[in-house]
Amino acid sequence: ATMPPLLAAIANAGRHGVLVKSAVVMERLAQVDAIALDKTGTLTEGTPQVTDVRPLAESGLDEEELLATAAAAEHPSEHPLARAIVAAARERGLELRTAEHFASVPGVGVTATVAGRGVSVGAPAGLPEEAPVREPEEGMLVRELAGGGRTVVVVRIDGVPVGALGLADRLRPGAAATVASLTQLTGTAPTLLTGDNPRAAARLAAEAGIQDVRAGLLPEHKVEAVREWEGAGRKVLVVGDGVNDAPALAAAHIGVAMGRSGSDLALETADAVIVRDELATVPAVLALARRARRIVV
Ligand code: ADP
Ligand code: MG
Repeated sequence: ATMPPLLAAIANAGRHGVLVKSAVVMERLAQVDAIALDKTGTLTEGTPQVTDVRPLAESGLDEEELLATAAAAEHPSEHPLARAIVAAARERGLELRTAEHFASVPGVGVTATVAGRGVSVGAPAGLPEEAPVREPEEGMLVRELAGGGRTVVVVRIDGVPVGALGLADRLRPGAAATVASLTQLTGTAPTLLTGDNPRAAARLAAEAGIQDVRAGLLPEHKVEAVREWEGAGRKVLVVGDGVNDAPALAAAHIGVAMGRSGSDLALETADAVIVRDELATVPAVLALARRARRIVV
């Protein structure tokens, strides 16, 4: 017996390293005409390095104390930035205290109690209940690091900023070629969606050949972007890896998750999974889905 074209296409996608969860998803893939890519862990390798450790003078902390405090709070987190901060502390041989009452806010950062004090590590704008960074001192530091294209996280103790860390991540190999293929296939250049700061996002986007960048987005803002395009009649495919991407993956015509590095929530929510994190499989499977449709109709 010959396999029905949609099933054959699913099997073929599997050989390309993409797990397409149903025949309906394969049909919907053929309709995609707009692409949005998450930055951290999707367009980038998701293994950032800590490049800057900058305590604020009035904090009284030195670099090692700042890094050790941040790493202690981040230790329970699976976020790529958290893993980078813990790795940097370990490389310097720093001892990490145990964190209690750990909580994470997707797209924002983490909070924990370390040695009896409330520590938060996250985006400069802070958690909803925290004050934004003060001017001029932290503001200048954040702008200096972001100006260098760094991802910036601010460390606070009991709500008071004590310093900032700069991190840098690399583009996945082949990302620029994938962006070019996606542009050719859909007739529209992909958009970059990220919770990171605009400067860091712009640096990565330029390397990948992406012009349309939306930065500083909370998870719900990623959803709003998707709804905006869908409202304009576009069929959007979103690729993401994080817990922060899950709502946008659910809202999109097609949500695709990174299989190896993606969070469990992203994998469950997505319609398709890139098993070995190879971005180049996305244009391959889009082309496949279109061929399968031509056979069906
Ligand atoms: P992206 O959308 O690029 O995948 P995220 O939404 O995961 O990025 O994170 C957006 C921003 O939120 C980060 O640049 C950082 O400032 C902050 N952030 C998120 N999670 C963490 C964390 N575990 N530790 C520190 N900062 C975090
Ligand atoms: Mg991400």
